[in-house]
Amino acid sequence: MRRLSSVVVLVLCSILFLSAAQQPGAASQSLYGFKDDEAKQQRDWETKFRAIPSPENMRNAMQRLAARPHHVGSAYDKDNAEWLLAQFKSWGLDAHIENFDVLMPTPKDRAVELVEPTRFVAKLQEPTVNGDPTSSQHDEQLPTYNAYSADGDVTAPLVFVNYGVPDDYDQLDRLGISVKGAIVISKYGGSWRGIKPKVAAEHGAVGCLIYSDPRDDGYFQGDVFPKGAWRPPDGVQRGSVMDMPIYPGDPLTPDVGAVPGAKRLDLKEVKTLTKIPVLPISYADAQPLLAALTGPMAPMSWRGALPLPYHLGPGPAKVHLKVASNWDTKRLYDVIVRIPGSTYPDEWIVRGNHHDGWVNGAQDPISGLVPEMEELRAYAELLKQGWKPKRTIIYAAWDGEEEGLLGSTEWAETHADELRQKAVIYINSDTNSRGYWGASGSHSLEHFINSVAKEVTDPEKNINVWQRAKLARIARAPNQAERDEVRSRPDLRIEALGSGSDYTVFLDHLGVASMNLGYGGEAGGGIYHSIYDDFYWYTHFDDPDFVYGKALAQTTGTAVMRLADADLLPFDFANQADTVRRYVRELEALLKSQQDETKERDREAQEGVYTAVSDPKHPMAAPKQQTMPPFLNFAPLNNGAEALSRAAERYQKAASAAQQSGLGRVQFANTNKLLIESERRLLSQQGLPNRPWFRHQLYAPGFYTGYGVKTIPAVREAIEQRQYSEAEAAIGRVGRVLQDEAAVINQAAESLEK
Ligand SMILES: [Zn+2]
Repeated sequence: MRRLSSVVVLVLCSILFLSAAQQPGAASQSLYGFKDDEAKQQRDWETKFRAIPSPENMRNAMQRLAARPHHVGSAYDKDNAEWLLAQFKSWGLDAHIENFDVLMPTPKDRAVELVEPTRFVAKLQEPTVNGDPTSSQHDEQLPTYNAYSADGDVTAPLVFVNYGVPDDYDQLDRLGISVKGAIVISKYGGSWRGIKPKVAAEHGAVGCLIYSDPRDDGYFQGDVFPKGAWRPPDGVQRGSVMDMPIYPGDPLTPDVGAVPGAKRLDLKEVKTLTKIPVLPISYADAQPLLAALTGPMAPMSWRGALPLPYHLGPGPAKVHLKVASNWDTKRLYDVIVRIPGSTYPDEWIVRGNHHDGWVNGAQDPISGLVPEMEELRAYAELLKQGWKPKRTIIYAAWDGEEEGLLGSTEWAETHADELRQKAVIYINSDTNSRGYWGASGSHSLEHFINSVAKEVTDPEKNINVWQRAKLARIARAPNQAERDEVRSRPDLRIEALGSGSDYTVFLDHLGVASMNLGYGGEAGGGIYHSIYDDFYWYTHFDDPDFVYGKALAQTTGTAVMRLADADLLPFDFANQADTVRRYVRELEALLKSQQDETKERDREAQEGVYTAVSDPKHPMAAPKQQTMPPFLNFAPLNNGAEALSRAAERYQKAASAAQQSGLGRVQFANTNKLLIESERRLLSQQGLPNRPWFRHQLYAPGFYTGYGVKTIPAVREAIEQRQYSEAEAAIGRVGRVLQDEAAVINQAAESLEK
């Protein structure tokens, strides 16, 4: 037995060294970005760090933080912030609270009634569940509503619009159904919720209901709460419907922090409120409304899991919808911790997770916040043992994320000049669950974050979390080509960031390289933004032992420490260049498929296909004729991508040579400045068309998808919206941005070659 286990240890050791050797240019035992004599010391600190985060502490902290509703403006939101502050200070850390005063509407009047052909009054109330102790705190719970809905009182026929995205309205057109003057009822899902009232209003609707269909997160998926994790009949998804793809943060103070004396817009001038009233409802409340619809059957893929035929309407169901809010200003409490850097104090590693919830918010956001707390507690211990981070580390527990990324946006807008100069990276987390390692973010850090994931052991499988994620991707790949790529590519691809959490202002507005980290995929659930997202639910159905909370703390903390301590920042541009080339190919393919589809439609129209297959009893018109998309000149993008590839290769070579020489002779200050600058160069000062707050030219939340990312958004969205001259102009602009990026990477390479 003894002999056998020493063989196992040997094998494990060689795997560890192998992963170190996969760093660009690393000799075995070296650590990319570190001088040889410091690499071992760094690894020792990181190993010590990873032993500290305690599931027990995370459990206790979650129980405390999720004990009462803690939305913006509530007593417990402030109480939580002050408790977090006291914890951080008790560990000997330098911490403070920053306040902002923001527009935060709360419900004054809500009504949904079926008035024809029969009468039904929606409950709009989530009941107490026996056994779940916090579900009875009705006095403190925010009622079910969508924040930043316009006030309104409308009565109109109802139309079912599937997910309420633009494609759904094209289908309705073909079926001869207009939503002009109607109230639409849409399912949750398929887009970020704020897109639904926006698109409905663009099509002339006067009101919008959004409900959770049991097919998506209710009994169709599994047992409902409290028997299982899924959404019970009266569960409602609250949420913001602010038009965040225009700009997030306090609607009254775009571009500047919501501090005393800041210039504030008049409510009438605000562009990010909805145009029509909107309310979220449960499937118990939606069922009688949907059952009262007649008209054509909804297309097969639109139908949900309620026991009724899904008709589209309009009517005869007629609905009365009333929404009125208190348009008050509420105070935010961002808790900020600062650990000063010893060597490069003006280079900041910033990390955050929000602390506010819609109600008790155990999964969202406390499951991500408690690992963040444990990271800080661990740093405090290491500092006492003599660890001296070279860069300044800033940790934030944000307030007001749920309403529209309020706390992070206002803080970053307030400190924008300093962040532009000093921020190296922003690392975010939000909800965390049992399952697989996931990362998304700036592709100049793709290689780095892959190397970090190899350091963390999966608590269920005893292999590292990177290995497990890789094997899961092989299992799930839709085709052989993708399986082959996962097997052969040294790094797992990370997704681009859209929106939906607090990284948005850092990445999209300020050009700070950003990442979002988390675990998930094994624990399902239908309690999102309801009163049932609480300690009881989390400890029964999500990560009951907090072992994935520990894995998140280990992953994020290792990344922060390595970034804070590396002499040469571990940016690498080969994967960025590879990703940009992919994006350009996707754009070319998108245009080609539009051309092919237009051609095919014309042909089918001439052949009489649409007339022949339209059932006279259920008529379906031909799709609208489109003008033929012109060919576009993608050369500026291809030239930019090519320049980027060459620069990336040159940088990798230079960094590799520097690393092999032990990083001894190199002066890093200038190189690191250029590396930090590299993400800034991906911004354009005039921003994206019609939304200048969003400046990043590689990533943005989609104008019509919300959370969903659009890569090279200025070009992609122009093509999608068939604005081809705008697309051509954007190709030129983004091409120049890529050339600029290549230039700064070449400068960084040059600074190492000297
Ligand atoms: Zn969240």
